[in-house]
Amino acid sequence: MLKIRSIHPGSPASRTGLKKTDILIACNGEPLDDWFDFVYNATGTLIIIEYKRGIQKRDITIRRIPGMEWGLEFVGQSPRICRRKCVFCFIDQLPPGVRPSLLVKDDDIRYSFLHGTYVTLDQNDVSIAINKNLSSVHVSVHVSDPVQRGRLLGTGKEEPIIPLLQTLSNAGISVETQIVIVPEWNNGMILEQTLMDLLNIPSVISVGVVPVGITSFREGLQDIRRPTASEAAEIIHQCDNWRRKALRTRGTPWVYPADELFSLSGKDVPDTAYYKECTLRENGIGLLSNLLQYVNRDFSGRGLICTGTLAAPFMKRVLAGSEYQILAVNNTFFGPEVGVSGLLAGNDIVKSVKAENYSREPVFLPRVMFNHDMLTLDDLSPGDIEQLTGREIKIACGVEDLI
Ligand code: SF4
Repeated sequence: MLKIRSIHPGSPASRTGLKKTDILIACNGEPLDDWFDFVYNATGTLIIIEYKRGIQKRDITIRRIPGMEWGLEFVGQSPRICRRKCVFCFIDQLPPGVRPSLLVKDDDIRYSFLHGTYVTLDQNDVSIAINKNLSSVHVSVHVSDPVQRGRLLGTGKEEPIIPLLQTLSNAGISVETQIVIVPEWNNGMILEQTLMDLLNIPSVISVGVVPVGITSFREGLQDIRRPTASEAAEIIHQCDNWRRKALRTRGTPWVYPADELFSLSGKDVPDTAYYKECTLRENGIGLLSNLLQYVNRDFSGRGLICTGTLAAPFMKRVLAGSEYQILAVNNTFFGPEVGVSGLLAGNDIVKSVKAENYSREPVFLPRVMFNHDMLTLDDLSPGDIEQLTGREIKIACGVEDLI
């Protein structure tokens, strides 16, 4: 049974006469034990809710237009907050003054399942995943050795991950895993052992290997660094060896180094066949390779394209010979080591656009630098940027929008 915390005024739920004191019993015939059951079952545009008002049981039908929220919040809906202190935690490295919602450290397998974010996984997560049959789930492994994992997660105790993954595997739950590489902590032979241990677990269907992100705001935090060029090349080499083993034993390449590792190593990115079965693109894996597919396409538009320093050289290759200009925006919000477009701040865009002498053509910004409310990390909207730069702003979801 599910208690309502609030009903948003004007929402589909508010128009049905449902009251905050009503207790929800089932959605589309499926029992509701917690908020997740509601979200999981209420995916369409029409739901039938069974609920209790006092001692009476009733049914109502709620309709919505696609994309609209139902307007219900439930007691206990807040995510579980993380109890780790990972040495590489990006939230611990945020600049002062960011909006409070960016500082929330959730580590909840239900949210992970819904949004594709990663959890560090504990016994409670495993029980939830099995009870609710959540498959697939995303797990931050980092290292298979329990002692070293405890050091990386900053908990001061052993953090075994392999038995938890094995339990999920025995229950038939698929797991997509991630390894954040912190040089001298989990690369070299430790990475070798981790990949070997993961390959032995049948339901671990993929491994994304990404370098640690470092901002300029690490005061008081552990002294860690990004991989050097040779370390990044070595990580790619190790992944390629394990890809060959996985192809032989599983028929899939299974492990995918992130785009940033290719950039750090100075190697060119592989072609799209390398990422054929990869489902980890949201994690900065295979995006640059995908971009290079557009080399030699005709781009008839014109304008100034703002992008992060990581993608800029690739955008230049794709748009060579077109009327577009590429502006690689330096990230002063987080610091020079952060080159991805999704972490660009509005004020950095404003500064860079004002400093360039290009014509009055429109300025294209990547959609990924804005959140759901169309705000940048430093709370500027496209309209704010338009006002501050005096330039027409257009939003591009991908390179297709430039054709
Ligand atoms: S699990 Fe680690 S990286 Fe994730 S929020 Fe918690 S401390 Fe940060």
